[in-house]
Amino acid sequence: MKTLRPYQSDIVDRVRNAYLHGYKAPCVVLPCGGGKSVIVAEIAKRTTAKQNHVLFLVHRKELIDQIQNTFDFWGVDMENTDIMMVQTASRRIERLQKPALIITDENHHSKASTYRKIYDAFPNAHRLGVTATPVRLDGSGLGDVNDILVEGVSAKWLIEHHYLAPYDYYAPSIADLTGIKIQHGEYETKSVEKALLRTAVFGDAIKHYRQLANGKQAICYCVSVNHSYAMAEEFKANGISAEHIDGTTPKEQRDRIIERYRRGEITILCNVDLISEGFDVPDCECAILLRPTKSLTLYIQQSMRCMRYKKGKRAIIIDHVGNYARHGMPDADRKWDLHAKKATKKQEKQTEELKIKQCPECYYTFEPPSFGRVVCPACGYMFPKQERSVEHEEDTQLKQITGFVLDYDSPDQCRNMHELQQYAKKMGYKPGWAYFQGKNRGFI
Ligand SMILES: [Zn+2]
Repeated sequence: MKTLRPYQSDIVDRVRNAYLHGYKAPCVVLPCGGGKSVIVAEIAKRTTAKQNHVLFLVHRKELIDQIQNTFDFWGVDMENTDIMMVQTASRRIERLQKPALIITDENHHSKASTYRKIYDAFPNAHRLGVTATPVRLDGSGLGDVNDILVEGVSAKWLIEHHYLAPYDYYAPSIADLTGIKIQHGEYETKSVEKALLRTAVFGDAIKHYRQLANGKQAICYCVSVNHSYAMAEEFKANGISAEHIDGTTPKEQRDRIIERYRRGEITILCNVDLISEGFDVPDCECAILLRPTKSLTLYIQQSMRCMRYKKGKRAIIIDHVGNYARHGMPDADRKWDLHAKKATKKQEKQTEELKIKQCPECYYTFEPPSFGRVVCPACGYMFPKQERSVEHEEDTQLKQITGFVLDYDSPDQCRNMHELQQYAKKMGYKPGWAYFQGKNRGFI
């Protein structure tokens, strides 16, 4: 049956409402696994049913077939639909059929001038973006390409309502990544590769997989093609069936590997970032993260890839590179803002201090309850009381972090002097302003 889930219908209605209220470019925000593709398909179906043309821009050629299949299945009029790479579309602008709706997949990429060129060529077209993470690598929002965010349900909600599988998160560190160079806002591949291409590191990755997820089908995310090949070889050498795929793997070979994975003949699928954005792979139960990333988007896409819902399933995420410490848990509630500025060093640091506990006994990683003794949910290890009380003091500061961008829209949202000072700083007010406001509000 081709019907949307209630929360998906709600999003479709809200997108329609946004257009009715004069917005031109809403961006739908829904967690990975929430079914963004069928929402888009439904909107495309309604558009094409009125004989209006839809242009769907993708940034990876691997996705074209897949979207075509979803659209076909959903009953979109394909005569009135073009699905193409953004580069292709920008080269053919003059020959494109004039779209009434331009859909941009994974909208956080959309700043590039190639997208712009297409948007500008059809100024009267409605636009629609979709993403799980409406934020760019540098932390800035999508206000330059979208005019309203249409936010759906949260990842936690999807887990609670059995649309996503619950998960266990383990984060045993296996390589020293301190001092890794950063290039264009991301960890530099060569130096990470160097740290990870070590025998001891390989050995530890295998050991932890055996301890935490033995025999379960996994997707292993690596830092480079070299690294991914090497990991696959290492798994095989240890009697665990594994294969590597990447964007250059010939389609037939890739399809064959995916099919063998689907049948359970391959246990571990190693890749760099092919199996991230929208690329459909069969269900699996485990994600192995071996690529440190500064990209929240990449982190969420990779870690949540194993959370497709199946009755009784618990996904296992093994994070060997400390991504949780940079970004929080995959299903953490995040506050999005179209007009978020680039994250400052200070905010990044605060993000790294998000309140997450890791069990020293079993590496289980979790958000502890806000009061009471902390006990590891996986092995029952009791965290020392003292440590808790120290952290509790930090809590009062950390509570101010909503999602990963620290921001207040009005002084009324500030709950103490510190927040007022932050607000004053953001607005460029003099320090005396915060003092005065704080005094009025009884903070001092
Ligand atoms: Zn434990």
